[in-house]
Amino acid sequence: MHTSRNDDCLFCKIADGKIPARKLHEDEYTLSFLDIYPSAKGHSLVMPKNHYATLLDIPEMELKEVIRAVQRIGAAAMKATKADGFNVVQNNREAAGQVIHHLHFHVIPRFKDDGLKMAMGSRKAEEEELKEWEKQIIGHL
Ligand SMILES: [Zn+2]
Repeated sequence: MHTSRNDDCLFCKIADGKIPARKLHEDEYTLSFLDIYPSAKGHSLVMPKNHYATLLDIPEMELKEVIRAVQRIGAAAMKATKADGFNVVQNNREAAGQVIHHLHFHVIPRFKDDGLKMAMGSRKAEEEELKEWEKQIIGHL
């Protein structure tokens, strides 16, 4: 398999075993490990071993492998932590909170009334703006 790494990338170093991590699962294309800055118990990260900066950069075949690992880790983390649910969070670029510029998915176990805040819908949209966004986005598909 062709591998691509970025010499300055922390997650590439983890993928290569040059920096240790609490590995949960590893296969040809993906690596899953515990986040050392957890938002909840059992919070883990799932990433491709190859270096891709964002979701827009990874080839479809490898993305499929990564999302399958996300599904598997999510199921295991739910059982292991006896969680009531879990979030999958994936940040692209700094404006969205991406810190390490190597594509990764957060898998975060959630518990009833855990009080953890995920930034989602705070107001109801106006009909006009929905129409405009719809037109703009569809125009770029
Ligand atoms: Zn990398």
